[in-house]
Amino acid sequence: MIQTDIIIIGAGPTGLFAVFEAGLLKLRCHIIDALPQPGGQLAELYPKKPIFDIPGYPSVGAGELVDNLMEQIKQFEPGFTLAEQAMTIDKQEDGTFIVTTNKGTQVHGKAVAIAGGLGSFEPRKPLIENIASYEEKGVEYFVKNPEQFRDKKIVIAGGGDSALDWSIFLAEVAAEVTLIHRRNEFRGALDSVDKVIELKKQGKINLVTPAEVVGIKGDGHVEAIVVEKEGETFDLATDYFIPLFGLSPKLGPIANWGLEIEKNAIKVDNALDYQTNIEGIYAIGDVNTYPGKLKLILCGFHEATLMCQSVYNKLNPGKKFVLKYTTVSGVDGFDGTRKEAEKAVVKAID
Ligand SMILES: Cc1cc2nc3c(=O)[nH]c(=O)nc-3n(C[C@H](O)[C@H](O)[C@H](O)COP(=O)(O)OP(=O)(O)OC[C@H]3O[C@@H](n4cnc5c(N)ncnc54)[C@H](O)[C@@H]3O)c2cc1C
Repeated sequence: MIQTDIIIIGAGPTGLFAVFEAGLLKLRCHIIDALPQPGGQLAELYPKKPIFDIPGYPSVGAGELVDNLMEQIKQFEPGFTLAEQAMTIDKQEDGTFIVTTNKGTQVHGKAVAIAGGLGSFEPRKPLIENIASYEEKGVEYFVKNPEQFRDKKIVIAGGGDSALDWSIFLAEVAAEVTLIHRRNEFRGALDSVDKVIELKKQGKINLVTPAEVVGIKGDGHVEAIVVEKEGETFDLATDYFIPLFGLSPKLGPIANWGLEIEKNAIKVDNALDYQTNIEGIYAIGDVNTYPGKLKLILCGFHEATLMCQSVYNKLNPGKKFVLKYTTVSGVDGFDGTRKEAEKAVVKAID
């Protein structure tokens, strides 16, 4: 079992920054996220959009902010369990917690910080009657490991950025890529549409539009899909079917953890430390609610900071905490060359 101090559920900006604040207090963190990459909404919904309200950055790309947060926490060596959904939290008799994921991974920690944002992003699934029986048997809703598709025949369905970007990328990996979309026009970036058309001309992508996948065939694994195009249906042999119709957020398992929920969010004590109704379980970032709550990245950063202080105080009862500025103490708090300056600042605070 993985051992840590704080188990963080959610690798969005709030969860990532919590690792930094915990690291300053010498608390170790392990992060679990249902998505295959860190960054939460920033990575999944708007990686290329500029953000204008991060203090100190007149403008920063969402993807760049995630990269910077990852760089900032690297020094504290957090553990990551990605592409797994936290399903249960079990409080132990000694007040510690075990979080178990849908793949059976277990993490044992002294506190839990739920930074679950809008909840788990769940794939929008096409309405094909027998699709559930082929999930992970040729039907994939995420591309977690592109190597899985090396030298295979794949069919991607969808008209947005994910469908276009993965068709382009996998054209160099798979033996055969077919992109199916129900309209002739795509919703994704114009540049990506141009690349797909270019790859079609080079014979590297088969483009089938306007068309829909209406059935799946195969003995225990996908062997073919049934395509409907302009009133006619035909079978298309394939090893994998990857519908990329976007993701919709759902609170998911969080709703079953005995936490007080209001308006689809977890109620917390904002006067103190963002703790929930269960001692030792905190909720920070978009996932929580309290009077005056704002769902903004910088609010999540603030909440993460106070949560870490609270965990530190609980784990170190009676120990006087002295606030140190990172400019003075450095991030490891042992920057001997600056000891005198540190003393001066601590004195100034006192
Ligand atoms: C288009 C758009 C533009 C925006 N622009 C701005 C802006 O300019 N400025 C600003 O401040 N904010 C902006 N926001 C809001 C901002 O993105 C959110 O406030 C921020 O992402 C919240 O961060 P978070 O870490 O709390 O949650 P999220 O970013 O939502 O991350 C939560 C993570 O938790 C994971 N998760 C949930 N449940 C589980 C579970 N059971 N197991 C495992 N993982 C789980 C999810 O997969 C997700 O990765 C924008 C939002 C959108 C959609």
